[in-house]
Amino acid sequence: MHLSFNDGVNARLAKPDSENNGDYQLKIAFDDGSALIFTVAMYGGLFLHNGTFNYDYYIKNLNAVQPLSEGYRDYYYKSFSEASNMSVKAFLATEQRFPGIGNGVLQDILFEAGIHPKNKIGELDDDRRSALFDSITKVLSEMTANGGRNTEKDLFGEYGRYQTKMSKLTVGTECRVCGEKIVKQNYLGGSVYFCPHCQTLK
Ligand SMILES: [Zn+2]
Repeated sequence: MHLSFNDGVNARLAKPDSENNGDYQLKIAFDDGSALIFTVAMYGGLFLHNGTFNYDYYIKNLNAVQPLSEGYRDYYYKSFSEASNMSVKAFLATEQRFPGIGNGVLQDILFEAGIHPKNKIGELDDDRRSALFDSITKVLSEMTANGGRNTEKDLFGEYGRYQTKMSKLTVGTECRVCGEKIVKQNYLGGSVYFCPHCQTLK
């Protein structure tokens, strides 16, 4: 059988000697006493299937062109032509157009590119499209190399070593580029964090 779970699910490996696993939605216990513990805080899905799973997100993920892979540049530019009326956040982080890019990684990608989350895709000129592509590659590579963001824990309960620039940890502090206060807004079913000076709404 296959077990699939999505990004709303927290997965932890509990050591054999850990007595209290707290509340959980699923526990897979191993012979040596260790266990995989799955919990869901806000939303999340755990799916057990035989390898054939007719679920839109799952199929899109399996067949997606992954960021940092070879064909990604072509896929990225091709996608622009279908999305001119969309905001940058809607374009990058919804409908599994770019699996691997969600609201969590989006904030620093847009900050590095100097783009406001509500900017329309159709209003980005070639330079800014190119800057956005470069930022996706740079930020995701750094996050991967550092074991994830410092706002998320890994399988062993350790925070990632990538220091987020725009996140719940930095909201209200000064932007490292211009000194303006970092703000938070609710937008498209999640919080966006940005610098109002470095990322102006064009
Ligand atoms: Zn700034």
